[in-house]
Amino acid sequence: MTGLADCNNFFVSCERSVDRSLEGRAVVVLSNNDGCVVARSNEAKRLGIRMGQPAFEIRDLIRSQSVIALSGNHLLYREISLHVHDVFRRYVPKTLDYSIDEAFLDMTGIPDSELSDIGCAIYEACRREVGIPVTIGFAPSKTLAKLVTERCKKCGEAVGVLLNDEQRWEIMSSLKISELWGVGRRLTRRLYESGVYTIADFARKDRVWVRKRLGVNGEKSWLELNGVSCIELGHVDRLLQDSISESRTFPVDVDDYDYVRARIAIYSADCAKKLRAMHGLCREVGVLLRTNRFHMDRQYQAPQGVVVLGGYSSDTNILTDAALRVLDTIWRENVSFKRAGVWLSDIVPDTPVTPSIFEEYEERVPGNTRLMQAVDKINGMVGHNVVKLASQITKGHVGHNDGYSSSFGAPFNPDR
Ligand SMILES: [Mg+2]
Repeated sequence: MTGLADCNNFFVSCERSVDRSLEGRAVVVLSNNDGCVVARSNEAKRLGIRMGQPAFEIRDLIRSQSVIALSGNHLLYREISLHVHDVFRRYVPKTLDYSIDEAFLDMTGIPDSELSDIGCAIYEACRREVGIPVTIGFAPSKTLAKLVTERCKKCGEAVGVLLNDEQRWEIMSSLKISELWGVGRRLTRRLYESGVYTIADFARKDRVWVRKRLGVNGEKSWLELNGVSCIELGHVDRLLQDSISESRTFPVDVDDYDYVRARIAIYSADCAKKLRAMHGLCREVGVLLRTNRFHMDRQYQAPQGVVVLGGYSSDTNILTDAALRVLDTIWRENVSFKRAGVWLSDIVPDTPVTPSIFEEYEERVPGNTRLMQAVDKINGMVGHNVVKLASQITKGHVGHNDGYSSSFGAPFNPDR
């Protein structure tokens, strides 16, 4: 049996864990310069607020205080995430941290009769120690565990165990095909055309039909729904960081836009390289600027912003472009900055297991994977970044030694 432990409305729950007055209220967390909704409390969901909905559409609800809108505090979420994953590990020796708020639990060798108690213990520990509500589903495969968790959330239950075929068909019939792990909008339409509306409809299809229409990954999902566990922990068996960041303090305070722009491009490229090295893709790119705290005569300023990409990517070009766009929205003229940084968040593994099981590329921004591989290979061989984007090169010079060379770097040594 496999378990899936999934925090409920994670970002909102994190905010509530530090501010109890948010309890019982409709709360949303915004992203992208407060541009769109990235997390909703159940109360906000009941008001009909959608995931990804632009903030201006719910402006009136926010003004009238029917909804409390918060800017994301990703450092807090990361800290709480580590804590929650520690709790999971305490009760189940082999876990797989699947995302910032989800982990698969390997229950091999544990009697079915004990699963419910273990689930309740995890729920209780997370609530008591971290203040985060968690839902845990157990089933014979990961895909089914995910369905059990979804179902529990809908019914307001904390723990669910799928033990027999009757329950399996009942749950699958109650969920729309679009709720199946990895089925995106496009695939939903295609499946509707074939008369597949619920997950049960899909599971009832012939295996050969599934393989022909949806390929090997679709077949794997079909097998998992029919109780055959075949999506291996090993496929994503590595700890993904949920954010990567690069930031530096400048040697002097800088109000030169071109200089800061080049720094942001350099940090973005560095983050992108790290992201590829850990076989990840990300969907959020953030930029922060900081003025010098020790200049008492000036007001401390710390503008920052995030952009949510249209899909997941690890392409330096795409991520740098996004970071530079964020920079343009937060840049302040006539302000000297002491520090700048870039972070990447909403990271998922670069494997077919997630986030779209069938259409691997559906939710990805098309990037140039081969170009990136070549760049990483060349830079890896040379030992420093000789291949870079033009935007990483500054014309101006601000006596820099912040750990990065902004010129073309050392001459290429063909002997290495
Ligand atoms: Mg969750």
